[in-house]
Amino acid sequence: MSDAILKIRNVESFYGPIMAIRGVSLDVHPGRVVSILGANGAGKTTLMKTVSGVMDPEKGTITFEGEEIQGKEPHKIVERGIVHVPEGREVFPLMTVDDNLSLGAYTRKDTAGIEQDRELVFNYFPMLKDRRNQEAGTLSGGQQQMLAIGRGLMARPKVMLLDEPSLGLSPLLVQEIFGILKRLNAEQNMTMMVVEQNASAALELATDGYVMEVGRIVMDGTAEELLNSEDIQNFYLGVQ
Ligand code: ATP
Repeated sequence: MSDAILKIRNVESFYGPIMAIRGVSLDVHPGRVVSILGANGAGKTTLMKTVSGVMDPEKGTITFEGEEIQGKEPHKIVERGIVHVPEGREVFPLMTVDDNLSLGAYTRKDTAGIEQDRELVFNYFPMLKDRRNQEAGTLSGGQQQMLAIGRGLMARPKVMLLDEPSLGLSPLLVQEIFGILKRLNAEQNMTMMVVEQNASAALELATDGYVMEVGRIVMDGTAEELLNSEDIQNFYLGVQ
């Protein structure tokens, strides 16, 4: 396999005295979809925030395309090509869909490229084109998730970090959104790291997976290996 585009080594992150990430190491290879599974509070969101620069790690290194990026400012990390689609979507409710998308391109100056990417987003999410002049706050939860992913794409990322894209959505919508993520991976060769509590949806989308418990990685493998693992079936897939 080619070299990892993103290498996380022995990362520790804290909230004050609370150690939320306890020495995490993992690799993301180009063109792969890596799922991070784990229960509530396992440290998945903290890991994402540490990679995207929202939090600084106390220890460890995060190497992206051969360069260490830990502790860099979030906009520098976006410029390098890592974009974070946060848990809970965080779209700007009083701004239009179009303006939310434009904000995703805030680090770019290539106007023609930005408009090209807006068309790409509309191609994957036609609903956003139909509602481009509508305030984002009037969209449904699923539509807001689509907008958050679209906004992420507007940065023309090399790696997308997606935090709980299935949160609060009906099974049908989860299927629809994960289907689009799968297409983005297949057609745009988009590399992704996806944090999920919905293990079955995540492993269906992913090529590889890691399982986190209390701030540590406790298991890893290809998505197929994890799907066939008895522990994963018992604890995460609800198979008895
Ligand atoms: P969830 O699915 O609920 O988001 P998670 O796996 O993403 O869970 P984190 O949100 O990363 O887990 O939380 C990891 C640990 O850090 C938990 O023990 C949590 O209580 C703690 N934690 C998270 N955010 C904060 C915060 N702002 N201040 C203090 N502790 C926090």
